[in-house]
Amino acid sequence: MFDPISLAVGAGLVGIGWASGRFGRRTTRRSQVELQPPLCGCGHDLALHDRAEGVCHAEIVRKDRVGLREWVRCNCRRYTGPTPLEDLLAPPALPPEYRG
Ligand SMILES: [Zn+2]
Ligand SMILES: [Zn+2]
Repeated sequence: MFDPISLAVGAGLVGIGWASGRFGRRTTRRSQVELQPPLCGCGHDLALHDRAEGVCHAEIVRKDRVGLREWVRCNCRRYTGPTPLEDLLAPPALPPEYRG
C-alpha cells in the first residue's frame, strides 16, 4: 500500500488542492478590492466630496502645536479618484415635483 506511485499521486493531489486554494484566496481578495468604494487621493470616499465643487467634507484629527488633538477639515479641494460606473450611467435627477 506504500508503493511509490500512490505516494506520488497523493502528493500531487495535495499540491493541486493547495494551489487551487491559494489561487482562490487571491481571486477573492482582488474582487474585494474592486468592491471598495472609489477613493480620492486624499484617502476619503467619493461620498464625502461635494458633488458640485469637489471639496472634501471629511474631518481628520491632527495635533496642534501644543500636542492637543483637533478636528480639521480635510484640505482636499477636488476629488481625484476614479468615477464610479453608476455615476456615469445614472439618469439626470428629476425635478422635485416628480418625486413621490
Ligand atoms: Zn479628496
Ligand atoms: Zn478628504
